[in-house]
Amino acid sequence: MKVPFLDLKPTHQALQSELEAAFRRVLASGNYILGTEVQAFEAEFAAYCGTRHCVGVGNGLDALQLILRAWGIGAGDEVIVPSNTYIATWLAVSHAGATPVPVEPLAATCNLDVARLAVAITPRTRAIIAVHLYGQPADMDAINAVAREHGLKVIEDAAQAHGARYKGRRAGSLGDAAGFSFYPGKNLGTLGDGGAITTNDAQLAEQLRAWRNYGSRSKYHNEFKGFNSRLDELQAALLRVKLPHLDAWNAARQQLALAYLNGLTDRAQTHHGEQYGNAQPNSDGLAGNGLVLPEVPHWASPVWHVFVVRSRQRDALQQQLAQAGIGTLVHYPIPPHLQPAYADAGYRSGDFPIAEQLHREVLSLPMYPQLGLTAQQQVIAALMAGTAHCP
Ligand SMILES: *Cc1c(COP(=O)(O)O)cnc(C)c1O
Repeated sequence: MKVPFLDLKPTHQALQSELEAAFRRVLASGNYILGTEVQAFEAEFAAYCGTRHCVGVGNGLDALQLILRAWGIGAGDEVIVPSNTYIATWLAVSHAGATPVPVEPLAATCNLDVARLAVAITPRTRAIIAVHLYGQPADMDAINAVAREHGLKVIEDAAQAHGARYKGRRAGSLGDAAGFSFYPGKNLGTLGDGGAITTNDAQLAEQLRAWRNYGSRSKYHNEFKGFNSRLDELQAALLRVKLPHLDAWNAARQQLALAYLNGLTDRAQTHHGEQYGNAQPNSDGLAGNGLVLPEVPHWASPVWHVFVVRSRQRDALQQQLAQAGIGTLVHYPIPPHLQPAYADAGYRSGDFPIAEQLHREVLSLPMYPQLGLTAQQQVIAALMAGTAHCP
């Protein structure tokens, strides 16, 4: 039996009649941009995240960029970003006209190493973008404390973390503003592109409503040079069908993650899982079977957008799994600082060794709510067989 890395079809087949009804509702409304569906979704998603405001936008990249623009962050300013993230985090800063300043992660969690923040701050620094990578929240209290001390804004890149909790609070409510993506493969995805910003700042939300709509608050009055980046009415209607299921889908991911952690941990090693309570690094991180499993700090409730293991033989392991019919992906193969897109910044290989090591070693295993524990056992068995050959 083949096990795909991700299959979006079962989710949508299960909701087919509701999704079709939402489509028919929008079709019949005659209103296809910024209508009642967007308004209702914004209220529902803000309530879900525990924030006062939500502003629907065109995609996750724009969500991050528009926050920076609304704060007037641009040319001459610096914004701290993780050295290991999807390139969109960096591009949001670059497109706003500012300079991304990378900070290395903790290898154990793949999230920002707060101890490295202070040395990256200069008189030009205006903001920190913390990414909840792979669906695991970054250490937001510590990041907020550094930001407050230096008068910086904090943005959450929550594109992989819909529903994740940090000390009980939801991603999206943990900084000054947060950017979400509803790209189809995200934990909450639509049937196309979409994004949102959440914040408790009423003035920021008000400005963002103009930023996404040509700098206009009332029709044909353009106060500044805004963008066209609106969440589609149709996508909002589809998202309203899916949002009530998000917690159940995330719970299914958490069950799968626990089964991966239990199934892949060498029983002789420190036991992962159960309460997600084990934050101790396991020696050099290598378990007996040559895999490094994700570490979950006690304050984090991740939503496992992807389940990422590490191996020094990553490429060989990926090939062996492919031969066994198991789909995997690498998130991500090339760090942003070594992409041709950032050649102008003059970075070299070795500049961010932790990010570079992670990019060499990470492998994302099949993970989606309908994967099922039986198919997952096949993945675990193939991994145990595959890693047996690794030194
Ligand atoms: C997907 C993603 C984005 C960008 O979202 P789009 O909707 O594709 O623009 C930004 N940051 C992270 C971490 C992501 O995973």
